[in-house]
Amino acid sequence: MYGQHQYVVHADPASVVADLNTEPVRDHEPEVTEIIEMPASSTESWAVASTLGDLHDQICTCMQCPLGHTRTNFVFGSGNPNADIMVIGEAPGADEDEQGLPFVGRAGQLLTKILEAVSLSRDEVYICNILKCRPPNNRKPLAGETDQCEPYLWKQIELVQPKLILALGLTAANTLLKNKESMTNLRGKIHDYHGIRTLVTYHPAALLRNPEWKKFTWDDVKHLRNLYDAS
Ligand code: SF4
Repeated sequence: MYGQHQYVVHADPASVVADLNTEPVRDHEPEVTEIIEMPASSTESWAVASTLGDLHDQICTCMQCPLGHTRTNFVFGSGNPNADIMVIGEAPGADEDEQGLPFVGRAGQLLTKILEAVSLSRDEVYICNILKCRPPNNRKPLAGETDQCEPYLWKQIELVQPKLILALGLTAANTLLKNKESMTNLRGKIHDYHGIRTLVTYHPAALLRNPEWKKFTWDDVKHLRNLYDAS
């Protein structure tokens, strides 16, 4: 059960997430900072899907935005359909587009190691993105694309019913939380996303470019693990 989870940091986190800071876990939790309004329900047929499989089957041929025409594969999500933790990124990249799975490239491999560093496996959490199709050249999602695709994410969240969300990267965080706050302002706080406690950290792709930020992500995932153990 949730209360029985043991917080076991990987035996050798330095070998898993090189040069991550290993400061002790916080002994108090920051206050919840904001409450986000629940989005309106869609009237589309997929909105009444009762399982992730049903939802996938109903939206996997989506052409609601131009990215449907340029994708190789639709990237729905992967992991535990009843996960307590949902990890949400921005959009598929080239490897994800090729394989039809989220976070399978270099950044995805780093994400796997980051999760493993706090004894979480990819099968234990549910991983997806806000957009289900790759933006060309990995550019940032356009507002119209996000507007079209985000309701699918809302439905995924409704079906998974996670207790915690980890938003990866500023684009994902700003999109979920409907703000334009900086990463500095968003990290280290518990945000309330429709009643789900949500933490924000750097996208693994950003960590590959800026390895000095790994120590911040290490703090964030330890915080996530603490909340998970206490839930
Ligand atoms: S990005 Fe989303 S809205 Fe656009 S085509 Fe793909 S699934 Fe549909």
